[in-house]
Amino acid sequence: MENEQISTTTHWADPDSFSLLLDKARQFAGEYIDGLEQRPVFPAELSLQAMDALDEPLPEEPSDPLMVLARLHEIGSPSAVAQTSGRYFGFVNGGMIPVALAAKWLADAWDQNTAHYVMSPINSRLEEICERWVVDLLLLPVGTAAGFVCGTTIANFSGLCAGRNELLRRRGWDVAKRGLYGAPRIRVIVGASAHAAVHKSISMLGLGTDNIEVVPADDQGRMLPDQMPKLDGGALVVAQVGNVNSGAIDPVGAVCQQAHAAGSWVHVDGAFGLWACVMPSMRHLCDGIEKADSWSVDAHKTLNVPYDSGMILCRSRDALTSAFKASASYFQWSEHRDGMNFTPSMSKRARVVELWAVLKSLGRRGVQQLVEQLCENARLFAQLLRERGFQIHNDIVFNQVLVSCEDDELTTALEARRKEADDPGERTVK
Ligand SMILES: *Cc1c(COP(=O)(O)O)cnc(C)c1O
Repeated sequence: MENEQISTTTHWADPDSFSLLLDKARQFAGEYIDGLEQRPVFPAELSLQAMDALDEPLPEEPSDPLMVLARLHEIGSPSAVAQTSGRYFGFVNGGMIPVALAAKWLADAWDQNTAHYVMSPINSRLEEICERWVVDLLLLPVGTAAGFVCGTTIANFSGLCAGRNELLRRRGWDVAKRGLYGAPRIRVIVGASAHAAVHKSISMLGLGTDNIEVVPADDQGRMLPDQMPKLDGGALVVAQVGNVNSGAIDPVGAVCQQAHAAGSWVHVDGAFGLWACVMPSMRHLCDGIEKADSWSVDAHKTLNVPYDSGMILCRSRDALTSAFKASASYFQWSEHRDGMNFTPSMSKRARVVELWAVLKSLGRRGVQQLVEQLCENARLFAQLLRERGFQIHNDIVFNQVLVSCEDDELTTALEARRKEADDPGERTVK
């Protein structure tokens, strides 16, 4: 019994087997990446069926780590979605810049917990640096605080949590202590084409999706500021920069003007679209975005940082950190940045590493080129599709193209043909 235990745990202590395992992972990853352009984007039916082999009872006994990894590659790699291939156009999903993956591997070997500075000084410094860099890149107010979260859903939650708490604090109500029971009413004002993630945050925050006051939107999904309800100091207003269907950007400046005159808080859901702020050519659409109180943005979409990587940016450092403060006798605060004060999480991985690597390697010029290329490609797609008789439903303002054939039947038939062309195996299985 004792011997058996030693034989499994010493894989971590034995440098030879540890490096063999890492070499294997590197080899398998290389095989996966090399095969990306020859495989269907969505896994072939046979690959999906092969996953059944993983569905076994919980193993009672240990297995050889090399065999575990080989099995994951054998079954897992073919059934992964080829999201990083050049042929992936699903959802608003990002690919991956190579240096980010390489940096992630290095940080994976560090395996840092980033709750406190004393747990990871390097993470703490990189968070400070990236906070400053992102604020500079997106032309947000100097001193804006950033929390590094897993994506925009949690970033929206965080921004709205900070806003809710701050609005209540101004009315003499400490919601962290007293909760929402008996609290002054908080209103939520949301555009008609807001993302589902906004509704999810509102439900998680106890504000109630039934209470949402919806602001009508134009045909591109842009909130109409002259149709906003009368605002007050208890209102959270959510604007959107980058509509998932059209790429459209709400007139955030006009929204902020009304909201701030009434003492409301404005949060911007800028998951993929906030990166438009880096483009001098798009400044006219982004005017006034910097006036908001908090912003969400993903690094894992437009910026092509590996999943999961998002940020909550908040003009008031106090509002953000007081929303997430916690205490325990064993906590180790320092004069430096303690990551857990900026996010709902305590323990989390050093996800800022990949963001730092991408920003360091691209620089402002590189980020601008990346975004410009996405927008150029969207314009080209729209032009080529239009020339071939497809209907384009949106103004191409960012990297979204909304396309259909002349009727739904033809659109569905074409979609099926495209799927077959991607995966010839589909035809025989159906
Ligand atoms: C993708 C997206 C979200 C959700 O972001 P996650 O990173 O998936 O949590 C929210 N809002 C908009 C506009 C989005 O495009």
